[in-house]
Amino acid sequence: CGIFAYINYNVSRERRYILEVLFNGLRRLEYRGYDSAGISIDSSILGSAPLVFRQEGNIESLVKSVYQEVSTTKLNLEESFSSHSAIAHTRWATHGEPAPRNSHPQTSGEENDFVVVHNGVITNYEVLKKTLVRYGFIFVSETDTEVIPKLAKYVFDKACEEGDQTVTFSQVVLEVMRHLEGAYALIFKSRHYPNELVACKRGSPLLLGVKEFDEEGNVGPSFDDGKSLSNNIRPKELFLSSDASALVDHTKKVLLIEDSEVVHLKNGAVTIVKFDQAMGKRAERLARPAS
Ligand code: GLU
Repeated sequence: CGIFAYINYNVSRERRYILEVLFNGLRRLEYRGYDSAGISIDSSILGSAPLVFRQEGNIESLVKSVYQEVSTTKLNLEESFSSHSAIAHTRWATHGEPAPRNSHPQTSGEENDFVVVHNGVITNYEVLKKTLVRYGFIFVSETDTEVIPKLAKYVFDKACEEGDQTVTFSQVVLEVMRHLEGAYALIFKSRHYPNELVACKRGSPLLLGVKEFDEEGNVGPSFDDGKSLSNNIRPKELFLSSDASALVDHTKKVLLIEDSEVVHLKNGAVTIVKFDQAMGKRAERLARPAS
């Protein structure tokens, strides 16, 4: 029912800070209603499986279980990341009862090659599931969403098998979108693309929040002054959300993502590709004011 993501560049953030940003984002989405919640963050080894925490019930029970698991697994809350990508979700079940296995992030498999949060409904998930089962994927949830990370892994593995080691995260997502029917806002995180996030949407809302600082440390101007993202100031913190209420704590610089757009966050740069054009010739657009 709600999605949220956070990524930092050129500024160090501790694991505790990142967790609190996610939990506060989820608390902001609470009013929309939900039955379960979950997050994905990085472990201490870059490029290893992202950690996934999921819980039925309210945000505070997720918060409690995350901190419990953090202490039993001795994850260091003070560990500092100069760049880190994280995603979060509140779920309003449409397919599959509220349960940890049906909560998001949904994953591609045990190694969490791809983890995805999803708002909406994938109407053709049954045919996709059948095909992916034939390719050897093992499904562990009853959600419509689970086909998405598995499809991403399939696309990525196939590209690598065919010798395309340069396939980008947004190319993988564009290929996944080609197969999806229904309504969705999606955020992808991947072991293969550390410190990157890709989001896309069709029919469900998605917003990008950008926090950048000038030399004095002041937050940059908002989009509605008509300025686009400046080329010389790199954003330090970027946020994605289905709801503006989860962004207002952080920035006024909010961009409304349009249907069929794919947002790629990498190295502090924001690249937005339009799905329809990308399928023919790749078109990128600069940030423009939110309406
Ligand atoms: N259809 C998905 C599910 O049931 C996502 C629901 C939502 O938007 O929260 O898991």
